[in-house]
Amino acid sequence: MKQTITVDLKWYALDQNNSGGYFYRNEDVMEYVFIQALSPEDAESRARDITENYSSYCDCCGERWNIWFRDEDGTEEPEIYGTEITELDADFFRSAAVLYYFDGTKRYYKFGVGFVPYDQLGDDD
Ligand SMILES: [Zn+2]
Repeated sequence: MKQTITVDLKWYALDQNNSGGYFYRNEDVMEYVFIQALSPEDAESRARDITENYSSYCDCCGERWNIWFRDEDGTEEPEIYGTEITELDADFFRSAAVLYYFDGTKRYYKFGVGFVPYDQLGDDD
């Protein structure tokens, strides 16, 4: 018998610490990584996979990623501290984000601009 279930997907935001004075900015991670997931645990598990190769850090600056989500961290839309990313401008610590949709789609978001193909993210400095 076929069963259909409805799941409540939420977005979880992961912000990269520029440990050592630099950010990893590539096809997998940007200053922000947003993960659409079933639960905080699901988001954490996927976050660990995504950041696995980009986790180097220096002791004085601290760890690059703080992968620890709670239920209340999940939001309907990708947000940073309560503000949807569409309402946020770019700044030095926030030029672009990678969004990982639950269906496997990956999209790039340039703050202050919108969704763009990876090759149009550019570098503002
Ligand atoms: Zn340091």
